[in-house]
Amino acid sequence: MNIIMIGAQGSGKGTQAEALERALGLKPCSSGDLLREHIAKGTELGLKAKPYVERGDLVPDELVIGMILDFLRASQAQPGARGVILDGFPRNIPQAEKLDAELAAAGQRIDAVISLEVPRELLQGRLSGRWVCRAQGHVYNAQTNPPRVAGVCDVDGSELYQRSDDTPEKIERRLDIFFRETVKLLDYYERQGKLTRINGARPIDEVTRDMLAALGARR
Ligand SMILES: [Zn+2]
Repeated sequence: MNIIMIGAQGSGKGTQAEALERALGLKPCSSGDLLREHIAKGTELGLKAKPYVERGDLVPDELVIGMILDFLRASQAQPGARGVILDGFPRNIPQAEKLDAELAAAGQRIDAVISLEVPRELLQGRLSGRWVCRAQGHVYNAQTNPPRVAGVCDVDGSELYQRSDDTPEKIERRLDIFFRETVKLLDYYERQGKLTRINGARPIDEVTRDMLAALGARR
């Protein structure tokens, strides 16, 4: 079962993907992580993607899809493989169409799409309260997930800081872009009958329970 998780930054998407991994054995496949890994390892796709990343340009869809197909093949070769959770790709309809075509050519498909929906005001609050640890990037939130001691990482004791791209204006802009792109993408998957909208503005366990119920009903 291959699924796509769509959710704005601050929607709790990462946490919920981990919950699905534990419950269903699906492997998280984040396009951002894939890119970083391929570049770090100097793979053929990584070498092609590197100049785009260095210039700050978008990496061509074909390269990202190539990395996703690679990940799918590698994860299926493992015993007990159950499927993957795509995160970060596709972001628009042309990308979704290309992904569908490439998956079909490889005998694969997207089975379900989960949209983790959180009201914009709430996202703004969550994002502006974000604190990150210097040593390992552990993420805290002043409102929803504070560290035991203010300014100090629970795990490794390192200093917590706020990222420069977490200013209210920059958060606002990122959310604008996300909502503008995503509305159409959700329509695309709704027309395919694959979309489930989950209210993400609730306690983590309730959100997980609803996601599992929705995916169970689709199997
Ligand atoms: Zn830490």
